[in-house]
Amino acid sequence: MSEVDAPRTRPAVGRLAPTPSGLLHLGNVLAFGAAWLSARSQGGRLLLRVEDVDRGRARRHIEDAQKRDLEWLGLTWDHEPRRQSERDYAPWVERLGQQVYWCRCTRAMVRDAGGIYPGTCRDADHDDEDGRGRLRFRLPDDPVHFVDRRFGPQVIDPAAELGDPVLQRHDGFYTYPLAVVADDIEDGVTEVVRGADLLAYTAVQIRLFEAFQADPPTWMHSPLVLGADGKKLSKSHGSAHVGELRDAGASPRDVWRQVLPWLGLQGDHVEDVVDAFDPTAGPLGPIRVETD
Ligand code: GLU
Repeated sequence: MSEVDAPRTRPAVGRLAPTPSGLLHLGNVLAFGAAWLSARSQGGRLLLRVEDVDRGRARRHIEDAQKRDLEWLGLTWDHEPRRQSERDYAPWVERLGQQVYWCRCTRAMVRDAGGIYPGTCRDADHDDEDGRGRLRFRLPDDPVHFVDRRFGPQVIDPAAELGDPVLQRHDGFYTYPLAVVADDIEDGVTEVVRGADLLAYTAVQIRLFEAFQADPPTWMHSPLVLGADGKKLSKSHGSAHVGELRDAGASPRDVWRQVLPWLGLQGDHVEDVVDAFDPTAGPLGPIRVETD
């Protein structure tokens, strides 16, 4: 194909964005497998972004273990990994101008108000003289409409349902909601593929893309994977973790034979099913796995 005939759409850029606070479990394998398949099936590129903006929770040895697990599963990436802790988000906050404000409410106050920040300091015009405030983003008061490639059309009013997000904490650190959007813009990400626990939160991120006047990516959320007890997978479900499965003698093939049907695919390895990938195929979940 000559350059003139080439499609004018942006080449796909996806990302694997693990948070290095917990070892990879089958829900992560599903989400990262979907992200990998989506990008590869379009001949696109994949970044590995270490989401360690929350330094209190990020652990270097967990980051290393996650990379080892991803490689073992064949989930390859195309560039040197990028790390949020090495980026500067201050210019991004600057760009938001009057759309951010200082909030003096404590976490306990938000909890007492029902858990969703009710906008108490929105019009209070606080400054941050003592350096103890939180910087929040003023969400517009109307619903966001977007289409998830798997879950279909969504309507979410983030101001009412989620509350104005904190972009900078009282200790000065920037937060995940700011970092993830700034990174996706800076990295030229065209598609976000991740677990359904962040489906509703997408509405907040879309508002931030609008505020930065940037083209949003497309969105696909993979089904939630729960333990036999119906709870989100965590450390207590050891047997649903990649490292533990490997230690018990499982091969990548064993893992993929369990996970690929959750994307409506049959195969021994993620590499074998690239051409068959369809974001809408398979269950919406939640999916339950045997755990002990
Ligand atoms: N860091 C998030 C996670 O590990 C993923 C966030 C995203 O992909 O936008 O679940």
